[in-house]
Amino acid sequence: MKLVNQMIATTLPLIPKSVVGYFSQRYIAGETLADAIKVSRQIQRDGACVTLDVLGEHITRNDEATAYANQYLELLDAIQSEKLDANVSLKPTQMGLKLDRSFCRDTIAKIAEKTKQNDNFVRIDMEDISCTDDTLWLYEDLKKEYPVGTVIQACLRRTDADVDQLINLNANLRLCKGIYVEPYAAAYKDREIIRQNYLHILERLLTAGCYTGIATHDEMLVWGALRIIKKLNLKPDRYEFQMLLGVQEELRKVILKAGHKLRVYIPFGAHWYAYSVRRLKENPQIAGYVMENILRRMAGKK
Ligand SMILES: Cc1cc2nc3c(=O)[nH]c(=O)nc-3n(C[C@H](O)[C@H](O)[C@H](O)COP(=O)(O)OP(=O)(O)OC[C@H]3O[C@@H](n4cnc5c(N)ncnc54)[C@H](O)[C@@H]3O)c2cc1C
Repeated sequence: MKLVNQMIATTLPLIPKSVVGYFSQRYIAGETLADAIKVSRQIQRDGACVTLDVLGEHITRNDEATAYANQYLELLDAIQSEKLDANVSLKPTQMGLKLDRSFCRDTIAKIAEKTKQNDNFVRIDMEDISCTDDTLWLYEDLKKEYPVGTVIQACLRRTDADVDQLINLNANLRLCKGIYVEPYAAAYKDREIIRQNYLHILERLLTAGCYTGIATHDEMLVWGALRIIKKLNLKPDRYEFQMLLGVQEELRKVILKAGHKLRVYIPFGAHWYAYSVRRLKENPQIAGYVMENILRRMAGKK
Protein backbone atom coordinates (compact mmCIF):
# COMPACT_ATOMS: atom_id res chain seq x y z
CA MET A 1 0.00 0.00 0.00
CA LYS A 2 2.89 2.31 0.85
CA LEU A 3 4.26 1.80 -2.66
CA VAL A 4 0.88 2.54 -4.28
CA ASN A 5 0.53 5.74 -2.22
CA GLN A 6 4.07 6.73 -3.18
CA MET A 7 3.25 6.16 -6.87
CA ILE A 8 0.06 8.24 -6.66
CA ALA A 9 2.00 11.03 -4.94
CA THR A 10 4.95 11.13 -7.33
CA THR A 11 2.89 10.92 -10.52
CA LEU A 12 0.58 13.70 -9.38
CA PRO A 13 2.57 16.55 -10.97
CA LEU A 14 2.07 14.79 -14.34
CA ILE A 15 -1.70 14.95 -14.03
CA PRO A 16 -3.23 18.08 -15.64
CA LYS A 17 -3.98 20.90 -13.18
CA SER A 18 -7.65 20.86 -14.16
CA VAL A 19 -7.94 17.19 -13.14
CA VAL A 20 -6.17 17.81 -9.82
CA GLY A 21 -8.50 20.80 -9.37
CA TYR A 22 -11.54 18.62 -9.98
CA PHE A 23 -10.54 16.19 -7.23
CA SER A 24 -9.25 18.91 -4.88
CA GLN A 25 -12.54 20.81 -4.88
CA ARG A 26 -13.78 18.40 -2.25
CA TYR A 27 -10.96 19.42 0.11
CA ILE A 28 -10.45 23.08 -0.81
CA ALA A 29 -13.21 25.71 -0.86
CA GLY A 30 -11.90 27.48 -3.97
CA GLU A 31 -9.60 30.34 -4.90
CA THR A 32 -11.46 33.36 -3.57
CA LEU A 33 -12.84 34.77 -0.33
CA ALA A 34 -16.32 34.52 -1.87
CA ASP A 35 -15.76 30.75 -2.37
CA ALA A 36 -14.71 30.39 1.26
CA ILE A 37 -17.79 32.27 2.48
CA LYS A 38 -20.09 30.17 0.31
CA VAL A 39 -18.66 26.87 1.56
CA SER A 40 -18.69 28.12 5.18
CA ARG A 41 -22.41 28.86 4.87
CA GLN A 42 -23.07 25.36 3.51
CA ILE A 43 -21.15 23.79 6.41
CA GLN A 44 -22.94 25.99 8.95
CA ARG A 45 -26.30 24.89 7.59
CA ASP A 46 -25.41 21.38 8.81
CA GLY A 47 -24.80 22.75 12.32
CA ALA A 48 -20.99 22.95 12.30
CA CYS A 49 -18.77 25.99 12.70
CA VAL A 50 -15.58 26.58 10.68
CA THR A 51 -11.98 27.71 10.75
CA LEU A 52 -10.69 29.36 7.59
CA ASP A 53 -7.16 28.98 6.26
CA VAL A 54 -5.64 31.11 3.47
CA LEU A 55 -3.46 28.60 1.64
CA GLY A 56 0.26 29.35 1.60
CA GLU A 57 3.45 28.39 3.42
CA HIS A 58 7.25 28.57 3.23
CA ILE A 59 7.56 32.01 1.69
CA THR A 60 10.93 33.47 0.67
CA ARG A 61 10.37 37.24 1.08
CA ASN A 62 8.95 39.36 3.90
CA ASP A 63 6.54 41.16 1.54
CA GLU A 64 4.86 37.81 0.78
CA ALA A 65 4.11 37.43 4.51
CA THR A 66 2.67 40.94 4.59
CA ALA A 67 0.46 40.15 1.60
CA TYR A 68 -0.85 36.99 3.29
CA ALA A 69 -1.41 38.92 6.53
CA ASN A 70 -3.50 41.47 4.58
CA GLN A 71 -5.61 38.62 3.20
CA TYR A 72 -6.24 37.46 6.78
CA LEU A 73 -7.27 40.98 7.81
CA GLU A 74 -9.74 41.07 4.93
CA LEU A 75 -10.96 37.60 5.89
CA LEU A 76 -11.55 38.62 9.51
CA ASP A 77 -13.61 41.59 8.36
CA ALA A 78 -15.63 39.36 6.03
CA ILE A 79 -16.29 36.87 8.85
CA GLN A 80 -17.67 39.74 10.90
CA SER A 81 -19.75 41.40 8.21
CA GLU A 82 -21.14 38.07 6.96
CA LYS A 83 -21.84 37.01 10.58
CA LEU A 84 -20.12 33.64 10.08
CA ASP A 85 -19.48 31.29 12.99
CA ALA A 86 -15.81 31.14 12.03
CA ASN A 87 -12.29 31.72 13.30
CA VAL A 88 -9.00 31.58 11.37
CA SER A 89 -6.00 29.25 11.21
CA LEU A 90 -2.60 30.23 9.81
CA LYS A 91 0.81 28.70 9.21
CA PRO A 92 3.87 30.32 10.84
CA THR A 93 6.09 29.72 7.77
CA GLN A 94 3.49 31.61 5.71
CA MET A 95 4.08 34.57 8.05
CA GLY A 96 7.88 34.39 7.70
CA LEU A 97 8.95 32.03 10.50
CA LYS A 98 11.88 30.71 8.46
CA LEU A 99 12.99 34.21 7.45
CA ASP A 100 12.96 36.10 10.74
CA ARG A 101 11.26 34.93 13.92
CA SER A 102 10.51 38.37 15.34
CA PHE A 103 9.20 39.66 12.00
CA CYS A 104 6.92 36.60 11.95
CA ARG A 105 5.76 37.38 15.50
CA ASP A 106 4.94 40.98 14.58
CA THR A 107 3.12 39.94 11.40
CA ILE A 108 0.93 37.46 13.27
CA ALA A 109 0.39 40.11 15.98
CA LYS A 110 -1.25 42.39 13.38
CA ILE A 111 -3.73 39.63 12.56
CA ALA A 112 -4.18 38.82 16.25
CA GLU A 113 -4.89 42.50 17.00
CA LYS A 114 -7.73 42.50 14.46
CA THR A 115 -8.91 39.19 15.90
CA LYS A 116 -9.06 40.82 19.33
CA GLN A 117 -10.97 43.85 18.02
CA ASN A 118 -13.46 41.57 16.25
CA ASP A 119 -13.86 39.29 19.28
CA ASN A 120 -12.57 36.38 17.24
CA PHE A 121 -9.75 33.81 17.56
CA VAL A 122 -6.64 32.81 15.58
CA ARG A 123 -5.05 29.38 15.72
CA ILE A 124 -1.39 28.97 14.84
CA ASP A 125 -1.08 25.65 12.97
CA MET A 126 1.86 23.37 13.73
CA GLU A 127 4.23 22.52 10.89
CA ASP A 128 7.18 20.12 10.75
CA ILE A 129 9.52 19.55 13.68
CA SER A 130 11.97 22.24 12.59
CA CYS A 131 9.19 24.73 13.50
CA THR A 132 7.98 23.26 16.82
CA ASP A 133 10.11 25.28 19.28
CA ASP A 134 9.54 28.56 17.46
CA THR A 135 5.81 27.96 17.08
CA LEU A 136 5.43 27.24 20.80
CA TRP A 137 7.44 30.40 21.50
CA LEU A 138 5.17 32.41 19.17
CA TYR A 139 2.11 31.04 20.91
CA GLU A 140 3.38 31.72 24.42
CA ASP A 141 4.42 35.26 23.51
CA LEU A 142 1.25 36.22 21.59
CA LYS A 143 -1.05 34.61 24.17
CA LYS A 144 -0.06 37.31 26.67
CA GLU A 145 -1.98 39.87 24.61
CA TYR A 146 -4.23 38.17 22.09
CA PRO A 147 -6.89 35.45 21.69
CA VAL A 148 -4.68 32.79 20.11
CA GLY A 149 -4.32 29.03 20.21
CA THR A 150 -1.91 26.55 18.72
CA VAL A 151 -1.63 22.88 17.78
CA ILE A 152 0.21 19.87 19.20
CA GLN A 153 0.95 16.58 17.48
CA ALA A 154 0.46 13.20 19.15
CA CYS A 155 3.05 11.56 16.88
CA LEU A 156 5.93 13.56 18.39
CA ARG A 157 7.90 12.02 21.25
CA ARG A 158 8.35 15.49 22.82
CA THR A 159 4.64 16.37 23.01
CA ASP A 160 3.94 14.83 26.43
CA ALA A 161 6.69 17.02 27.92
CA ASP A 162 5.46 20.10 25.99
CA VAL A 163 2.04 19.51 27.50
CA ASP A 164 3.47 20.04 31.04
CA GLN A 165 4.31 23.60 30.07
CA LEU A 166 1.13 24.15 28.02
CA ILE A 167 -1.05 23.05 30.93
CA ASN A 168 0.68 25.66 33.12
CA LEU A 169 -0.31 28.25 30.52
CA ASN A 170 -3.92 27.01 30.45
CA ALA A 171 -3.39 26.69 26.70
CA ASN A 172 -6.09 26.52 24.03
CA LEU A 173 -4.93 23.67 21.81
CA ARG A 174 -5.86 21.64 18.78
CA LEU A 175 -4.66 18.07 19.22
CA CYS A 176 -3.92 16.15 16.02
CA LYS A 177 -1.82 13.13 15.09
CA GLY A 178 0.60 15.21 12.98
CA ILE A 179 0.72 15.24 9.18
CA TYR A 180 4.46 15.64 8.54
CA VAL A 181 6.79 12.70 8.00
CA GLU A 182 9.36 13.04 10.80
CA PRO A 183 12.53 11.10 11.66
CA TYR A 184 12.19 8.07 13.94
CA ALA A 185 14.21 9.78 16.68
CA ALA A 186 11.58 12.53 16.89
CA ALA A 187 8.32 10.73 16.21
CA TYR A 188 6.46 7.52 16.90
CA LYS A 189 5.91 5.48 13.77
CA ASP A 190 3.58 2.83 15.13
CA ARG A 191 -0.09 3.69 14.42
CA GLU A 192 -1.29 2.20 17.73
CA ILE A 193 1.30 4.07 19.81
CA ILE A 194 0.23 7.33 18.13
CA ARG A 195 -3.41 6.56 18.91
CA GLN A 196 -2.67 5.73 22.54
CA ASN A 197 -0.49 8.82 22.92
CA TYR A 198 -3.32 10.90 21.40
CA LEU A 199 -5.81 9.68 24.00
CA HIS A 200 -3.27 9.97 26.83
CA ILE A 201 -2.56 13.61 25.93
CA LEU A 202 -6.23 14.39 25.34
CA GLU A 203 -7.13 13.11 28.81
CA ARG A 204 -4.33 15.17 30.36
CA LEU A 205 -5.48 18.36 28.61
CA LEU A 206 -9.17 17.94 29.36
CA THR A 207 -8.53 16.97 32.99
CA ALA A 208 -6.39 20.09 33.39
CA GLY A 209 -9.18 22.27 31.96
CA CYS A 210 -7.41 23.25 28.72
CA TYR A 211 -9.92 24.00 25.92
CA THR A 212 -9.14 21.36 23.29
CA GLY A 213 -9.92 20.96 19.60
CA ILE A 214 -10.13 17.20 19.07
CA ALA A 215 -8.91 17.08 15.46
CA THR A 216 -9.27 13.62 13.96
CA HIS A 217 -11.25 11.53 11.49
CA ASP A 218 -10.16 8.30 13.15
CA GLU A 219 -13.32 6.78 14.58
CA MET A 220 -11.35 4.91 17.23
CA LEU A 221 -10.07 8.24 18.57
CA VAL A 222 -13.50 9.86 18.37
CA TRP A 223 -14.85 6.92 20.40
CA GLY A 224 -11.98 7.27 22.90
CA ALA A 225 -12.55 11.03 23.16
CA LEU A 226 -16.27 10.53 23.85
CA ARG A 227 -15.41 8.13 26.68
CA ILE A 228 -13.03 10.67 28.23
CA ILE A 229 -15.64 13.46 27.90
CA LYS A 230 -18.21 11.26 29.65
CA LYS A 231 -15.80 10.10 32.37
CA LEU A 232 -14.82 13.69 33.18
CA ASN A 233 -18.44 14.84 32.91
CA LEU A 234 -17.25 17.71 30.71
CA LYS A 235 -19.51 20.59 29.74
CA PRO A 236 -19.82 21.10 25.94
CA ASP A 237 -18.01 24.45 26.16
CA ARG A 238 -14.72 22.77 27.19
CA TYR A 239 -13.91 21.08 23.87
CA GLU A 240 -14.82 20.83 20.21
CA PHE A 241 -14.30 18.22 17.53
CA GLN A 242 -12.48 19.34 14.38
CA MET A 243 -12.37 17.80 10.90
CA LEU A 244 -11.02 18.74 7.50
CA LEU A 245 -13.34 19.83 4.69
CA GLY A 246 -14.43 16.88 2.56
CA VAL A 247 -13.20 14.14 4.91
CA GLN A 248 -15.35 11.55 6.77
CA GLU A 249 -18.56 13.52 6.36
CA GLU A 250 -20.70 10.71 7.74
CA LEU A 251 -18.73 10.67 10.99
CA ARG A 252 -19.06 14.46 11.11
CA LYS A 253 -22.85 14.13 10.97
CA VAL A 254 -22.86 11.48 13.72
CA ILE A 255 -20.82 13.73 16.06
CA LEU A 256 -23.06 16.74 15.37
CA LYS A 257 -26.24 14.71 15.84
CA ALA A 258 -24.97 13.59 19.25
CA GLY A 259 -24.89 17.30 20.21
CA HIS A 260 -21.14 18.03 20.23
CA LYS A 261 -19.59 21.17 18.83
CA LEU A 262 -17.70 20.48 15.60
CA ARG A 263 -15.52 22.81 13.55
CA VAL A 264 -14.60 22.18 9.90
CA TYR A 265 -11.19 23.35 8.68
CA ILE A 266 -11.67 25.09 5.33
CA PRO A 267 -8.59 25.91 3.23
CA PHE A 268 -8.94 28.31 0.30
CA GLY A 269 -6.83 30.59 -1.87
CA ALA A 270 -4.94 31.08 -5.09
CA HIS A 271 -2.11 28.75 -4.08
CA TRP A 272 -4.26 25.64 -3.85
CA TYR A 273 -2.39 23.71 -6.56
CA ALA A 274 1.14 24.09 -5.17
CA TYR A 275 -0.28 23.32 -1.72
CA SER A 276 -2.09 20.16 -2.86
CA VAL A 277 0.85 18.77 -4.79
CA ARG A 278 3.39 19.52 -2.07
CA ARG A 279 1.21 18.00 0.64
CA LEU A 280 0.57 14.85 -1.34
CA LYS A 281 4.26 14.45 -2.15
CA GLU A 282 5.28 15.13 1.44
CA ASN A 283 2.99 12.52 2.87
CA PRO A 284 2.03 9.79 0.39
CA GLN A 285 -0.41 8.34 2.95
CA ILE A 286 -2.67 11.33 2.26
CA ALA A 287 -2.53 10.55 -1.47
CA GLY A 288 -3.83 7.09 -0.55
CA TYR A 289 -6.67 8.59 1.53
CA VAL A 290 -7.71 10.92 -1.25
CA MET A 291 -7.77 8.09 -3.77
CA GLU A 292 -9.69 5.86 -1.30
CA ASN A 293 -12.31 8.58 -0.80
CA ILE A 294 -12.65 9.17 -4.56
CA LEU A 295 -13.12 5.45 -5.21
CA ARG A 296 -15.67 5.21 -2.37
CA ARG A 297 -17.66 8.08 -3.87
CA MET A 298 -17.49 6.56 -7.33
CA ALA A 299 -18.83 3.33 -5.81
CA GLY A 300 -21.73 5.33 -4.36
CA LYS A 301 -20.70 5.11 -0.68
CA LYS A 302 -20.20 8.38 1.16
C1 LIG B 1 -9.02 20.28 11.72
C2 LIG B 1 -7.67 19.67 11.51
C3 LIG B 1 -6.55 20.47 11.59
C4 LIG B 1 -5.26 19.93 11.43
N1 LIG B 1 -4.16 20.72 11.64
C5 LIG B 1 -2.95 20.15 11.61
C6 LIG B 1 -1.78 20.88 11.96
O1 LIG B 1 -1.83 22.07 12.31
N2 LIG B 1 -0.58 20.25 11.90
C7 LIG B 1 -0.47 18.93 11.54
O2 LIG B 1 0.65 18.40 11.54
N3 LIG B 1 -1.55 18.23 11.18
C8 LIG B 1 -2.77 18.79 11.21
N4 LIG B 1 -3.88 18.03 10.89
C9 LIG B 1 -3.71 16.72 10.25
C10 LIG B 1 -3.58 15.60 11.27
O3 LIG B 1 -2.35 15.71 11.94
C11 LIG B 1 -3.62 14.22 10.60
O4 LIG B 1 -2.59 14.08 9.68
C12 LIG B 1 -4.94 13.93 9.86
O5 LIG B 1 -6.04 14.41 10.57
C13 LIG B 1 -5.10 12.41 9.70
O6 LIG B 1 -5.16 11.79 10.96
P1 LIG B 1 -6.53 11.22 11.59
O7 LIG B 1 -6.47 11.41 13.07
O8 LIG B 1 -7.68 11.85 10.93
O9 LIG B 1 -6.48 9.66 11.40
P2 LIG B 1 -6.19 8.73 10.15
O10 LIG B 1 -6.25 7.34 10.67
O11 LIG B 1 -4.92 9.17 9.49
O12 LIG B 1 -7.42 9.01 9.21
C14 LIG B 1 -8.69 8.40 9.43
C15 LIG B 1 -9.42 8.37 8.11
O13 LIG B 1 -9.73 9.72 7.70
C16 LIG B 1 -9.52 9.89 6.31
N5 LIG B 1 -8.54 10.96 6.10
C17 LIG B 1 -7.68 11.46 7.03
N6 LIG B 1 -6.99 12.51 6.53
C18 LIG B 1 -7.42 12.69 5.25
C19 LIG B 1 -7.12 13.61 4.21
N7 LIG B 1 -6.23 14.60 4.36
N8 LIG B 1 -7.77 13.48 3.01
C20 LIG B 1 -8.68 12.50 2.83
N9 LIG B 1 -9.02 11.62 3.79
C21 LIG B 1 -8.41 11.70 4.97
C22 LIG B 1 -9.10 8.55 5.75
O14 LIG B 1 -10.25 7.90 5.24
C23 LIG B 1 -8.59 7.79 6.95
O15 LIG B 1 -8.75 6.41 6.85
C24 LIG B 1 -5.14 18.55 11.10
C25 LIG B 1 -6.28 17.76 11.01
C26 LIG B 1 -7.52 18.28 11.22
C27 LIG B 1 -8.72 17.39 11.18
